[in-house]
Amino acid sequence: MRWTKTFGHTASRVIFAFGLLIVISTIVSGRRQPDEVFPGLIVGAAWTIAGWKRGLPIIPTSKERPAALNQIRRRGRILLASIAVFLALGGLVLPALPERALFTGFVLVAMVAALPFCILALSECPYCHEQIAAGWGRFGSVLLFSRCGRCGETLRHTVASGPR
Ligand SMILES: [Zn+2]
Repeated sequence: MRWTKTFGHTASRVIFAFGLLIVISTIVSGRRQPDEVFPGLIVGAAWTIAGWKRGLPIIPTSKERPAALNQIRRRGRILLASIAVFLALGGLVLPALPERALFTGFVLVAMVAALPFCILALSECPYCHEQIAAGWGRFGSVLLFSRCGRCGETLRHTVASGPR
């Protein structure tokens, strides 16, 4: 899997160190606040990995452009379906949890909800081969995933030019 090189050397070291700091402080304070261990480890690990890799992963799509566009559309449908799952999980699971496990439960549900979004947003654009949410300028179109945020090419239908 390819990774973007978003962060410079200094920034990536700071991010890496910040992630490690979260992990270590989570483990140290774990005995007093067990409900914060899991969320702390997840957040800390995410920062550590992003700092170590100096960016975010590019989730691969097919080398064939029409197939890649189909994959992106399928990931969009999974995202829509997951919203219903997220509401059900949030509505059923969270009220049933004891208060001391509420934060862990919330982070777990949020992670399940965020995963399809992250996979879609980090998917490789079949045109520019960057993540389709890489450019923040076109945030509206990125939000609907109708266009690539980096190169602006439509992700809705296959263009007449066909595969490369
Ligand atoms: Zn693109």
